[in-house]
This record gives sequence, C-alpha cells and structure tokens, in this order.
Amino acid sequence: MQKVKNFINGNYVDPIKGKYIDNVEPGTGKVFSQIPNSTQEDLEEAIKAAKIAFPVWSTMSVDKRSRILHKLADLIETNLDDFALMESRDNGKPLWLAKAVDIPRASTNFRFYASAIVNFSTEAQVSEGFMVNYTRRAPIGIVGCISPWNLPLYLFSWKIAPALAMGNCVVAKPSELTPMTAFLLGRLANEAGMPPGVLNILHGEGKGIGQAIVEHKSTKAISFTGGTATGKIVGATASQQFKKVSLELGGKNPNIIFADCDLDEAAKTSVKSSFTNQGEICLCGSRILIEDSIYEKFKTKFLEECRKLIVGDPMDTNSNLGALVSEEHLNKVDSYVRLALEEGGTILHGGKRIEKEGYYYEPTVIEGLDEHCRTNMEEIFGPVVTLNRFQSEEEAIDIANSTRYGLSCTLWTSDLKRAHRVSHAVQSGIIWVNCWLIRDLRTPFGGMKDSGIGREGGNEALRFFSEAQNVCIKL
Ligand code: NAD
Repeated sequence: MQKVKNFINGNYVDPIKGKYIDNVEPGTGKVFSQIPNSTQEDLEEAIKAAKIAFPVWSTMSVDKRSRILHKLADLIETNLDDFALMESRDNGKPLWLAKAVDIPRASTNFRFYASAIVNFSTEAQVSEGFMVNYTRRAPIGIVGCISPWNLPLYLFSWKIAPALAMGNCVVAKPSELTPMTAFLLGRLANEAGMPPGVLNILHGEGKGIGQAIVEHKSTKAISFTGGTATGKIVGATASQQFKKVSLELGGKNPNIIFADCDLDEAAKTSVKSSFTNQGEICLCGSRILIEDSIYEKFKTKFLEECRKLIVGDPMDTNSNLGALVSEEHLNKVDSYVRLALEEGGTILHGGKRIEKEGYYYEPTVIEGLDEHCRTNMEEIFGPVVTLNRFQSEEEAIDIANSTRYGLSCTLWTSDLKRAHRVSHAVQSGIIWVNCWLIRDLRTPFGGMKDSGIGREGGNEALRFFSEAQNVCIKL
C-alpha cells in the first residue's frame, strides 16, 4: 500500500510523530493509501524551510519565476495520465472527467499565473506639478492554502499558482480525503526547478494541521476553499491576527429556466449542471426554478436526459457519474433525500444508494417541495436536485435569493434585457446565461453572502497575495 509523505524543503518526509490516516478509494470502498496526520512539529519544519526560501524566491526575477511555473504546467501535462488516475481513484470521479477537465485546468492555472505575473502592473497617479503616487505590490511572505476534496488538484493549484507567482512561499494542505495529486505535485515542483522550501505540502486533518496552518503566526495570508461552517472558523481564527483571508465557501445555486429559453439546450445543460462530478461541484445548480407555463415540458425533457445517465466504475469510459467521495458523504446525501420525502417531496428519478461496493448514489430529482424547506435551503453537495415552479420574473429572483448562499446562478432565456436585469438582481458572485461552467481565468471569482469573501481569479488573486504600499513623492 502506498504511503504518502509530506513535501517539505523539497524533500518527501514522514510525519515527525509517525501518525497516519487511511485513505479510502470511493470507487471500491477499500483503503488504497495512508497519509500523514501531520502535527505542529511538521508545520514548524515547513515554516522554517519557507522562511529560508522566501528571500531567494521573492527576489528572483519575475522572468525566472515565470519560467519555473510554466515548466511545472508542462510537467503536469506530460504526467496527465498519472495525475488523472490518482484523482479519479482518490475522489471517485470518472477517469475521463479528471483527464478532460480537472488536470488540464490545474495545468492551465499554473500557465495562466506564469504569464499573468509577467504582465502584472501596478498603478500610479500623477497630480501634475504637485505629486506622484505609485503603488508597490510586494509578496506577503509565507501564505497558507487549504483546499477541499471535490476538484482536488484544480482548486489546490488555483490557490498556490498565484501565491507562488507573486513571490510568496506556500504551506499548503489538500483535503485529507483526496491527497494523492498534491502528493505527486512535489516531485514535479523539484523537476521544474522550484527552490526547496518555496512550496511545502502537509497532509492531515483539518482540525489538526489545517487549523495549525491558519493559527501559525508566520502565515500572513490564508486562502481557503471549503464548507461555510469551516470557513467561519478559519475566518475567525485568521482575523485574530489580522491576516488577509480569502474564503471560497458553499452554495445552493439556482438554475432559472424562463419560458422563452431554448428548451432542449436548457434541459441538456441542466443535467450537466446538476450531476457533473456527481453533483460535487460548488457551482452545480441544485435548485431548478422553472417558469410555470413550461414546467411540465421542461420536466419531461430533463427526466428523459436523466434516464440516460450511467452511474458506474470511475475507470469505465461509459460512466457519466462515478462514486461519491466517502461513505459519510453518501449518508449525508441520502439523509437529505429522506428529509425531502418528510418535507412532502416526490422523487421523480433516483433516490437511493446503488447497492455495490463503493459509494454510488443515483442521480436524484425531487419535485413538490416548498421553496423554503430545508432541502431547498441547505447545501447537499451531491447528485440531488429539486424542481420548483415560479410565476413571474420577480418571484424567480425572490426564490433565487432566498438562501444564505450566493455563489453561482444559471439563467436560461432568449431575452437579452431580461438576462441583464435578472443577472443584476440575483445575489450571486457568478451568473451564467445560457451556459454553465465556462471559465475565463481573467475574471474575478467568488461568492456573495455566506458563500465567501474575497475573490480569486485573474489579477484579483495576485493582488490578494500581495501587500500594497503607496509611495507619495512631492514634486
Ligand atoms: P471542508 O470545509 O470540510 O474542508 C475543506 C478543507 O479545510 C479541507 O482541507 C479540510 O481538511 C480543511 N479544514 C477543516 N477544518 C479546518 C479548520 N478548522 N481549519 C483549517 N482547515 C480546516 O470542506 P469539504 O467537505 O472538503 O468541501 C466541500 C465544501 O467546499 C462544500 O461546501 C463546497 O461548496 C465547498 N467548495 C466551495 C468552492 C468555492 O469555490 N466556493 C469550491 C469547491 C468546494
């Protein structure tokens, strides 16, 4: 069985206290690796290495830093198959999805920030004959990056790429449920020529090593992606030391279908936005709001598409959905389906665990719920969607905004003015109109309300990972 190690100061090392946790493969339900359950002692080693590396990395020419990150992007591409296999075994997602989306996007994250840092510029204001102000943006120092299990390497790299590009040293922790691709990354960082100590990767539990990274007085900024409840703890802890903090948290995203939409396309894409990655994407639309006049038509088409979905072995290219990430998560998803029945819902499709080894759940469609019931208010983060009716644009906006979350929203309409009007009225960090999950890395990304604070993406991320200083010169 593979024993994962921490990556500290350019070396793979065992956890100092020798503690390990089992890592289970969701597709089989069997343990397939062991990972360090790191402690404060391991963190101190990582911090020590990062402190030594910081003067080297932060003063390296931008061109050289950029080349190293480009090389890392190349190496991920070269090792695509290994990464995709690990990601699929670790997470339960279909191998084809890891190959087509997760790993290429992780490589693109490094490539994007390798280029962005070369093009990054700061501002200057000239008051003619009186003064000049310019802004200096310097790396912060050592930053902590903590990521979840649903898109393991993709979300991990989306944090560490801008942090590194800006000249920071990083202490990063992937989810303990999906550690394998982060484990592979260390070797490639060395191959790319990254100096030891610049990137340090610690494995273990959130409450242990995750919390320790956030608490450590030497981590000057924390970039966290995960659940809203954890984000609250991370935010509160980081603010005690006035650290910069970015929180990308949960969602309960509305997918609004207006009567004037292209019904075929709306139904087809809605199946994707509901069930891709087993519904375990923070941007999946889990509340489908349908204009009353086309409710039955949409429902028929949507269910037709749902019936085509195959849930199966992640290694099988025919599987549309693989396994859920863990037994605990599967039980949580199932408990919400039971709750929906108690709340008066009717299951139109799916609704139960698939009885085989591993953690497989049927894509599930529920209707007939009150739009304010718990099933419609709380994040399930699995292959479960509800169908809900609305009568008017105002009502659709009200329902869309009725949860504590504000991460993403999808609109289906052919009315351009309505597309703008509703986009501006919905409290959501990202709005997709007649599409879903299309990504341009230059745009800011992040949630409103309890879906988070701060923005990732583009120059926002480079700014986040820097300290701004204004220099004012009297002329
Ligand atoms: P989680 O909050 O349980 O864990 C996320 C990470 O935080 C893990 O690495 C975990 O070990 C660590 N952690 C846990 N407790 C910690 C603590 N006290 N201090 C520091 N770190 C701690 O989330 P999860 O179950 O891994 O992921 C699912 C959640 O992530 C969902 O709510 C989903 O919506 C959200 N998510 C959000 C985005 C986004 O961009 N907004 C993207 C993906 C996932």
